Amino acid sequence: MTLMPESMPMVEVAASYVAGKWITEAPAETIDVTSPTTGEVLGSVGVAGPAEVDAAVAAARDALPGWGQTSPAERGAALGRLADALAARKGELADLTTAEIGSPRSWSTFGQVITAVGVLKAYAAITGDYPFCTTRPSMTGGTVLVRQVPVGVVGAIVPWNTPLFIAALKLGPALAAGCTVVLKPAPDAPLEFAVLTEAIEEAGIPDGVVNVVNGGAATGELLTGHAGIDKVSFTGSTAVGARIAAKCGSLIRRCSLELGGKSAAIVLPDAELDNTVPGLVSGVMGNNGQLCAALTRILLPRSRYDEYVVALTQAVAKLSVGNPADRSTDIGPLINEAARDRVEEFVSRAREEGATVLVGGERPDGPGWLVAPALVAATNDMEIAREEVFGPVAVVIAYDDTGEDDAADAVAIANDSRYGLVGAVWSSDSERAAAVAARLQVGSVAVNSTAVLDFASPFGGFKQSGIGREGGPEGIAGFVEHQVIIR
Ligand code: NAD
Repeated sequence: MTLMPESMPMVEVAASYVAGKWITEAPAETIDVTSPTTGEVLGSVGVAGPAEVDAAVAAARDALPGWGQTSPAERGAALGRLADALAARKGELADLTTAEIGSPRSWSTFGQVITAVGVLKAYAAITGDYPFCTTRPSMTGGTVLVRQVPVGVVGAIVPWNTPLFIAALKLGPALAAGCTVVLKPAPDAPLEFAVLTEAIEEAGIPDGVVNVVNGGAATGELLTGHAGIDKVSFTGSTAVGARIAAKCGSLIRRCSLELGGKSAAIVLPDAELDNTVPGLVSGVMGNNGQLCAALTRILLPRSRYDEYVVALTQAVAKLSVGNPADRSTDIGPLINEAARDRVEEFVSRAREEGATVLVGGERPDGPGWLVAPALVAATNDMEIAREEVFGPVAVVIAYDDTGEDDAADAVAIANDSRYGLVGAVWSSDSERAAAVAARLQVGSVAVNSTAVLDFASPFGGFKQSGIGREGGPEGIAGFVEHQVIIR
């Protein structure tokens, strides 16, 4: 059965969730949440102002001593119960993201929900054994105790594109470390957080450990600058990240940033075309191309450029575009009209700059903010190869594979970017591909796949793709202070 987005019930989400309760008093302001598929209003979300942010931060501060003193094993067990509670509602959550942000239903169970569950399960496994307290001999003959103590109250700011997954990447390490959290969802995608708070309650996580404030940039700024926040963990665009980092810098406030990307997939000359092309396409087009880790620059060896371009053009042309709730749809609508217009403008400027649009880029018959998935032949100096488009647009770039080191030019092009989030290398020799992967200035690289994230490993970017890591034991390090006791 096809679930039509318009069958979603109206959902009203309050401005804030504080100490285990949604605050139901009418907020001063609300924002409509509209379907990117039908334009219909799906619900509304309240906007948290100074009073709501104060209350949420106060609740997180009150809960901090108790949660910080629980054992790592208890915290790990709680994260495992949270993972189970979300997994039990995976269909409902996937429907919600499909309705709310147009995530194709064929993708949303894994991309939006299983990823979140996987990260939380990884923390359930990691936390009990994490070395929160270690000893070493001191230089003076005594003993040094090295403690990792919670950094405190975390302001966690989340984008709209994969809201639950990003929330899990913050909640997992923050709660594992013993921190308490005030989460701020994006105003375009707040609905899942109503389910998340129910799952938190079901998991028995004490009131006040996780609080939510809804709203846009103004609410985010109130949270970032609040005197009761010890650390800001931000995921979103590089432009907003720079603003948040400046604010945190002025306050000497801890801050980690997960930002944008313009990632490269390198096809080595020995890669088998049939095995590679489906991965190259899905690596760009997942979630309608609205993924920070989208592998949007496809680097092709000049010796095989023509055959790959033919195969990629055919594969992109075959993608089905339309209602994201229909499980046969590959590409749904972009989040809103402005995003659709922005992607169209990128494609149009690429043409003006001399790039060739091989397929797609036009506006299909609606409804919804659709853009036909596009493949663009360009060079790495063009805007379309340098800026994050955040839509279903793949760029193919030829590299010179004639030298003794036939990957040298590909590596140089891949690294010629202000971003450094992820990458992929495709080859029939996975050892060789892994050696090329190690030459990329990015946070993670997939070999012969698009799996650029491992649930139990650190995720984050080099260069302007961010500062810090979330995920895996290394992710916990961003939510602790080291305290040394020498005796
Ligand atoms: P965005 O930067 O516009 O907003 C992100 C969040 O910040 C939202 O909750 C927004 O309300 C809030 N915000 C906006 N202005 C703020 C301000 N001045 N102070 C505090 N908070 C503020 O990003 P978006 O459009 O929601 O998401 C898309 C972007 O996120 C893309 O650039 C994408 O690459 C990036 N992203 C990165 C990762 C990663 O892990 N590196 C993951 C997902 C998305």
